[in-house]
Amino acid sequence: MPSRHPLDIALVDGRWLAVGWDDGHRSEFPIDVLRDFCPCATCRKSRLDRADQPNSPKKRSLNVLGLSTRFEIEGLEHVGRYALGCNWKDSHRSIFTWEYLAEICPCDDCRAERGGPPVPFDPMTTV
Ligand SMILES: [Zn+2]
Ligand SMILES: [Zn+2]
Repeated sequence: MPSRHPLDIALVDGRWLAVGWDDGHRSEFPIDVLRDFCPCATCRKSRLDRADQPNSPKKRSLNVLGLSTRFEIEGLEHVGRYALGCNWKDSHRSIFTWEYLAEICPCDDCRAERGGPPVPFDPMTTV
């Protein structure tokens, strides 16, 4: 996938993050999914813990979008020229690089190109 840079970023209804890319592509991320895909060490660990316990009551489907009051975005900011900083109302902070955001775009085109749904940042790919 070619590297993309965002031309505009907007929060829609506080529930969607819309990103317009410089190659004309457009991504819309439900903010629940963004939070679930947070690449920070804490969230990666809790994803792994959930994966380790498939019967855990805390496990939930990424596709359940009706529960989106769980997370709210307090503010967005650019982090250098390569990433988006996302401040959550529960004072968590996520940093998404443009590359990562492009990778996890949930649209049908990207899904087809990828051959499946987006997968969260995997510790195996840590540099
Ligand atoms: Zn996190
Ligand atoms: Zn896409």
